[in-house]
Amino acid sequence: MKSLVPKGFDFKEEEWRQAEREGRMLVLVPFISERCNLNCIYCMMKDERVKVNQERKLTLEDHKRVFRQAVDLGCKTIVISGLGEPFMDPYLYNKQDNTFPLLDLAEELDLYTVVFTNGMMIDSKLAQALYKRRISLIIKLSSLNESVFSELNHHEIQFVDYREKDGRLTRIPHYLKCLIEAGFSDGLDGNATRLINDVIITRKNMDEITEIIHFSLRNHMLTCIDPLVIKSEAERNRDELAITDSENRILYEKVKSTFSDYDMGMYDLSNCIIHNYGLVYDLEGRIRRCLAVPSDAGTIHDRSLAEHWSRLLEEKQAANLAYHISKTEDIFGVCPGRRYYSFSH
Ligand code: SF4
Repeated sequence: MKSLVPKGFDFKEEEWRQAEREGRMLVLVPFISERCNLNCIYCMMKDERVKVNQERKLTLEDHKRVFRQAVDLGCKTIVISGLGEPFMDPYLYNKQDNTFPLLDLAEELDLYTVVFTNGMMIDSKLAQALYKRRISLIIKLSSLNESVFSELNHHEIQFVDYREKDGRLTRIPHYLKCLIEAGFSDGLDGNATRLINDVIITRKNMDEITEIIHFSLRNHMLTCIDPLVIKSEAERNRDELAITDSENRILYEKVKSTFSDYDMGMYDLSNCIIHNYGLVYDLEGRIRRCLAVPSDAGTIHDRSLAEHWSRLLEEKQAANLAYHISKTEDIFGVCPGRRYYSFSH
């Protein structure tokens, strides 16, 4: 059975076991940036962006303190996400002086970094600078069709010709080509890749999901398939975007049978690393249950990370139990975090 894992989540067997046994945290997920350069019609964060209180935003010193506490809890990887585009935040990328403060901080503490990005700010120069850092990117690949991609992201996305590793010519977003050319998808030791293509399943791109996975695998990249989270802009465009449960089930079966020689663990959200082994906090330091789900557990200022983590662990275990009891069939979009959210709201 073949498998491909994101560099940064490629923990050794013993590290997974130890994390289970000792309740260790493996990943820390800070949210940064409340600004975005896209206006995706499936965005689940748009409504949260406008609520950010500028005066309560965390400082670089706050992040530093939390990173250090996370290391004491076993953390190995920082996963930078945001309410908007992380590269628009000077904590991640200070364009004026070409520095990467949070990446420096992570490297100082011997942490690897994974960044969620829409890719729009990435050109050859930035791709080459990032390639030299200990970083993987989870990047938007909503479609391989230029007009579908632009419609979903409500922005004209520049597509260019790309000669794939097997010689065929494919049109892909310019930023993706820059990252591939910088070396992000070159083979690493083992089965890891530094480039992960993120695709949200909607009515507009559901028929291309297998094509996107094929393209990614041919070029040593992973595809991260995410269900539509019905919040914010996605909720307003629900009728246009949401697929039905039976379509979801058919799609899951199709992916499973088409890629039967690959480990399906990579498409099973019940194994979600962020939910099971991670702690997420937002721009004001509030703890979240997972990327999509806020929590009323307080902030990083109220308690130590260790106290938050031990409380969260109990919640996560309860959520996993609830998920496994109620799980009757495989389907994209069902994960412990979202299950828990639907039980508690
Ligand atoms: S989905 Fe991501 S890239 Fe698109 S508008 Fe929302 S935050 Fe920005």
